[in-house]
This record gives sequence, C-alpha cells and structure tokens, in this order.
Amino acid sequence: MAKKFWPYNRKYFPELQCTMKSPVNPLPNRTEISQLGEFGLIDYLTKNIRLQNSTSLKGVGDDAAVIAADNRQTLVSVDVLIEGVHFDLSYTPLKHLGYKAVAVNISDIAAMNGKAEQIVVGIGLSNRFPVEAIEEIYEGMMLACKRYQVDLVGGDTTSSHSGLFISVTVIGKAKQEEICYRGGASVGDLLCVSGDLGAAYMGLLLLEREKAAFKANPDMQPDLEGYDYILERQLKPEPRTDVVEMLKQAGIKPTSMIDISDGLASEILHLCKASSLGCRIYEDKIPMDAATLTMAESFRIVPTVAALNGGEDYELLFTIRQTDFEKVKAISNISIIGHFTEQSGIAEMVTTDNQLIRLTAQGWDALKNSEEDKKADL
Ligand code: ADP
Ligand code: MG
Repeated sequence: MAKKFWPYNRKYFPELQCTMKSPVNPLPNRTEISQLGEFGLIDYLTKNIRLQNSTSLKGVGDDAAVIAADNRQTLVSVDVLIEGVHFDLSYTPLKHLGYKAVAVNISDIAAMNGKAEQIVVGIGLSNRFPVEAIEEIYEGMMLACKRYQVDLVGGDTTSSHSGLFISVTVIGKAKQEEICYRGGASVGDLLCVSGDLGAAYMGLLLLEREKAAFKANPDMQPDLEGYDYILERQLKPEPRTDVVEMLKQAGIKPTSMIDISDGLASEILHLCKASSLGCRIYEDKIPMDAATLTMAESFRIVPTVAALNGGEDYELLFTIRQTDFEKVKAISNISIIGHFTEQSGIAEMVTTDNQLIRLTAQGWDALKNSEEDKKADL
C-alpha cells in the first residue's frame, strides 16, 4: 500500500502536532469506534470540556444546550465541511482540520462585529476512522475554542458512508448598535483590509503540487521546508477577533464588513451589492506578504490574482467613514485599499501600471486564464 502523504507529522505548529501517522493509522494502536459506541464516543470526546462563557448555561449532556439571553442580539452561522470537497485528508492533518472548522466560524461572527461564544458540532464518520482520529479533530477544535473563548456546547454524531463530514454552528453575541452588516457603506467611505492576502491560496497550491509529486513517486518526501507562513495561512487560519477589538478600542464602527473567505474581488462585490454602490481599489495598496510574492513568482502567477481570487485568508474587509481615517491609520496591520463610489455594483481596480480594470467575482479575465492554466498544470 502506498504511504500516505502526511507532511504535518513534522515540526510545524507544535501546538497542533499530530500523533497519528496518517488519518486512519494511529500509533501504537487503533481503537475502533464500535468499541466505545456512539454514547461512549460522545462522552470520551467531551469529557474535558469546561465552559468559559457566562452565557453558556448548559452544555453537552442534555437534549439541548441552554444559552442565556442578555441585552445583546444573537448571531448564528453554520459552515459545513465535506471530505474531498472542502478538505483533502492527504495533506490536512486532523488537528488542523478541527482548528480550521472552528476558526472559520468564529471569523463569520467577527465579520458581524460580534463575539463568538458557543459552537455546536455535527460530525459524520465511518469506521474507516479510529477513535484516535476523531479525538485529534476534537483536540484541534478545542484548541481553537480555548484560544477564542468559545464553548463547545453540543453536537450530533452520526455515521457517514461517503467520507468525513463536519458541520459547525456558531452562536455569537453583539449589541444591536455594534452589529456590522455587509450593506451600510456610503459614497466616499474608505475600504480597509486587515493583515495580508493571497498567502492561503499559495499554501494550497504548494500542498497540491507536493501531493501530485508524491502521487507520481510515493518515496519522495514532500518539499515543504521554509514555507511555514503560506502553509500556516492555509492549514491554520486565525479569525481576526483582534481586529474587531482594536477597532472598538479606537472608537471606530465599520460602516460595512465581511470576512474574506472567497477572495478579495468576490467579497468587494458582496459589499457593493449590499450597499448598492461601487468601489475603486488600487492594486499597489493590496497587502501581500513577501512569502506570497515569492511563491507566486515560482508558480508564475500574478500575485494580485492570488489576493483577488484565492480566498481562505479570513481577513476582515470593511469600510469606514473618511472622518475615521486618522484613527484607522494608527492601528497596525490595516491597509486602506480603496473607496466606495456611486457606480452601483461596479468594482474597479487601478493597476500598478495605471490601467482601470473591472473586477468580477473571479478577478479579471486576462489573469483568470493564466491562473487556470497554472491550475491545470498541477
Ligand atoms: P439526542 O439523541 O437527544 O440528539 P445525542 O445522543 O445525539 O442526543 O447527544 C447527547 C448529548 O451529547 C447532547 O447534549 C449533544 O449535544 C451532545 N453531543 C452529541 N454529539 C456530539 C458531538 N459530536 N460533539 C459534542 N457534543 C455532542
Ligand atoms: Mg442527537
């Protein structure tokens, strides 16, 4: 049997170090789910949960969790992850998968300017996976829960005959006046983005490339040395709850906000549509890490394409009033990349060579082709 491509059994991200040799092959032995049964498995996975939020009145163990109502409004969001569609277990270590499944949900609540406080987890699995595998997923989820002070208050466990399935529902809170919707920008508002863009996509391309090389020659070790940043951005994204906090501290309430899961272009168009306005951005203002630029060059991709179309960066994209310009400038790691215009639904980019290009949800056509050529190469 071919060895599994499982690069993250290595030194990276010590906090998410895997103990398993492959998703189905724990060391030294394998515990069958049938040995514990459904209830035994649930007990085993949830026995170490300690509730952290005062709104979590009852967690795992009853027919439903109980969450306190207070003077804030409730935000709810769900994300479903399906093996082979949303993740590839040949290079996604299970702890990372658990961490990411929770992180991306917390990001959705952050994008509403709220605070995530609870999650419920639905999981579908087959006997292909041992108890140790599910435990690793939960360890990753619990780490994200601990880091972002979120309580895992319930879930459902079921069998799946077609791969692993994870559904995470997040419950958050925000004061009514604090909530930021996608619609809400005015003409002249400044478009801002946190962190840097495109790295997660570069990490994905790297993993796909190494997977292809591994398939061609299973004895070959994946070459992932020195690529920590882009790999971490792909495998272990962090929701920008810190940005929500910094904006609050600075006395800024974004006029609109969204998190970047599908790529900058697509998210800008969502803001435009919801606000019935247009937007103009400047290519030279788009923040990108040096590691992203280097990797894009080696894949012969225009780096801006990775930022516009790549997705999974989980940065926050938001608009502010021009009067908040000085305040936002004082916050580190926020870039002002453009402004809103009257041209409803039209998003444009001024390129580094001063061309005006219309953004579509897939970026723009000339570069889209080169990106697809690149993908086909993999
Ligand atoms: P019911 O039959 O009432 O749906 P379950 O037996 O599915 O109850 O669940 C029992 C308890 O365990 C509930 O509190 C539920 O929220 C929790 N639970 C079930 N599966 C999971 C899971 N995968 N992760 C966390 N909690 C779970
Ligand atoms: Mg149930």
